[in-house]
Amino acid sequence: MEKYEKLEKVGEGTYGKVYKAKDKATGQLVALKKTRLEMDEEGVPPTALREISLLQMLSHCLYVVRLICVEHVDKNGKPVLYLVFEYLDTDLKKFIDTFRKGPNARPLPPNLIQSFLYQLCKGVAHCHSHGVLHRDLKPQNLLVDKEKGILKIADLGLGRAFTVPLKSYTHEIVTLWYRAPEVLLGSTHYSTGVDMWSVGCIFAEMARRQALFPGDSEFQQLLHIFRLLGTPTEKQWPGVSSLRDWHVYPQWEPQNLACSVPSLEPDGVDLLSVSF
Ligand code: AMP
Repeated sequence: MEKYEKLEKVGEGTYGKVYKAKDKATGQLVALKKTRLEMDEEGVPPTALREISLLQMLSHCLYVVRLICVEHVDKNGKPVLYLVFEYLDTDLKKFIDTFRKGPNARPLPPNLIQSFLYQLCKGVAHCHSHGVLHRDLKPQNLLVDKEKGILKIADLGLGRAFTVPLKSYTHEIVTLWYRAPEVLLGSTHYSTGVDMWSVGCIFAEMARRQALFPGDSEFQQLLHIFRLLGTPTEKQWPGVSSLRDWHVYPQWEPQNLACSVPSLEPDGVDLLSVSF
């Protein structure tokens, strides 16, 4: 790790801290992510190695944050892995925040929303075509290069050796705002639709500059969803009431989605409606 000069902490992900650093030899800025892998006497578990090589393979896409290399360090006899990523200057959450508050508060330009949504869809399609679900897409996981107008998916691929947790390693609550109803209801047979759900929530959030479904518990999250989109029935969604975490909910009718995203044109509302 002497190759890198640690500059500052830039974030805290679900699995650990992220540092901005500089490659001393090349001057290249990188993001260092210490992984919290459970290592046994045998060293790095094969599941983790498989995930890292998958991550490296997926990151050869314009719309996925590039994994430059993996550094293996021995810390007091304990092996630690650092993932070294290309560095991007901000994430979509911080980016939207700059449009939401302060003297420069204004809507995001429609062509920027279009471009970010396009790049997000390309990145998600790339992952899905390689058989990988992200399962935790959210604005914090989408990195943005402001100057170039580039958006890339981050925090990918560690989703299988570890399941998506409810609390982060610092016991911070993991956001549920982008989580699909089938996941919230405890379905175990979900697929690519869970990422498309998150894409829809992120699209709406760019248009609204605030979250569409800001639930603070799994139950509240489902209420937010059902209040807007209607409570699902057995007829619309066979088997829904047999899912593990199904309860009895108020019977809401679907509302007009356009009212929740007043800045979107009809084509935008139509596009949004197909992600839910
Ligand atoms: P993550 O664990 O990927 O969700 O990262 C947590 C936070 O660290 C993100 O929300 C970003 O603000 C920041 N971050 C992660 N990866 C990078 C990167 N490659 N470049 C710059 N910032 C990053």
